[in-house]
Amino acid sequence: MPAHYDVLVLGAGAAGLMCAMTAARRGRRVRVLERSNKPGKKILMSGGGRCNFTNLHVAPDRFQSANPHFCKSALSRYTQWDFIELVEQHGIDYFEKETVNGLSGQLFCRESSKQIVAMLLDECGRSGVEITLDCETTKVQGTGPFRLETSEGSLRSETLVVATGGLSIPSLGGSAFGYRLAKQFGMEVLPTSAGLAPFTFSGLLKERFSRLAGVSCEVKARNGEVGFREDLLFTHRGLSGPVVLQLSSHWQPGESITLDLTPGKKLVPELLKTKQRHPRSLLRTQLNDLLPHRLVREIEDLFWSEHADQPLSDWPDRRLEALGDRLQAWRVKPSGTEGYRKAEVTLGGVNTQALSSKTMESHVPGLFLVGEVVDVTGELGGFNFQWAWSSGHAAGQAV
Ligand SMILES: Cc1cc2nc3c(=O)[nH]c(=O)nc-3n(C[C@H](O)[C@H](O)[C@H](O)COP(=O)(O)OP(=O)(O)OC[C@H]3O[C@@H](n4cnc5c(N)ncnc54)[C@H](O)[C@@H]3O)c2cc1C
Repeated sequence: MPAHYDVLVLGAGAAGLMCAMTAARRGRRVRVLERSNKPGKKILMSGGGRCNFTNLHVAPDRFQSANPHFCKSALSRYTQWDFIELVEQHGIDYFEKETVNGLSGQLFCRESSKQIVAMLLDECGRSGVEITLDCETTKVQGTGPFRLETSEGSLRSETLVVATGGLSIPSLGGSAFGYRLAKQFGMEVLPTSAGLAPFTFSGLLKERFSRLAGVSCEVKARNGEVGFREDLLFTHRGLSGPVVLQLSSHWQPGESITLDLTPGKKLVPELLKTKQRHPRSLLRTQLNDLLPHRLVREIEDLFWSEHADQPLSDWPDRRLEALGDRLQAWRVKPSGTEGYRKAEVTLGGVNTQALSSKTMESHVPGLFLVGEVVDVTGELGGFNFQWAWSSGHAAGQAV
């Protein structure tokens, strides 16, 4: 006879572990099957090793989905405050990240993201969750009970939770398994794409950006749809940094983006004023006060190389105005993103139409889907983990 459980959870990531511990606390007999050799790999790698585990400003409008209302119920029933309380109960010290614009609401572990994984495993262990690593599931059949063929043998369960995440970073567990299973049970999977990913460029612009690799500065970046003001990082392949990761989730291939290199500052009046006060100074000298020197050298070469050594007094106002405007609206066209290899999340996924927003149960009784596999994607800054905690908790209460 196959071993029988109340709940089988596929995937020991953020959403799966939260779901498992919540269900087991309610007395359910829970087993988690994880394909890789470690639980919570993405948690470990996240936030530069310190896990940006939630955000103080979680709100439904910080998430993208074909149905923007879907995330509301789960987010309101297990909030950032609930997760913070859990973190505090486990004595994990954390801090809010400061950005150039002030405080970001992003909460990070002061020590290590290992603490978050240890906390989830501790909660699972205390309530009797079994976790099996290196477990491959080859077949899922039936409904209540579900019958699973796995490398650990045949298993049965009353309910099945799919928490296998999305496609981003295959080496950290990214897989299409959840989408395939959803399709097998008749659910629609909306087109997926890489979200929160760096932009790549080609040709001369790639060469320029590559020369600037490592340089960062605060900019405002926008496309027709949205704009973000945060740090930009030049890379060997193009552009990255929080501002780019954010914008990439709203970017369509072929689209140009616009960079304001001096956000919050009106450059034209400033340049004209300097021309009056310091007529012998060079434009480069003036801009060096506002931007990294290496960047100024590169844009000088691009935009005003033939006038590079002319003092400001030789610049007609018209030309200064045109240049100032250009530096605040520099249009560049990415050739693509670095894709799932570097993306923090997967946009799209299992259509929420098939799911209850309260419990995450699908139209197939007993089959639940939680976390990134579902078509809900957060902004950068702890929102994606909060979705994993909230949706995992919602299912954990219902299985
Ligand atoms: C480098 C990086 C940094 C990030 N940093 C942050 C951050 O700081 N803050 C934030 O909010 N978000 C961050 N994210 C996003 C966040 O990690 C995800 O949104 C979140 O992990 C999704 O949780 P999940 O449980 O749905 O999926 P995952 O955490 O990806 O877990 C899915 C699990 O399922 C397993 N699995 C896959 N297929 C199978 C199968 N067939 N059988 C069994 N198991 C399977 C995988 O191995 C994995 O363990 C980051 C992502 C990356 C890649």
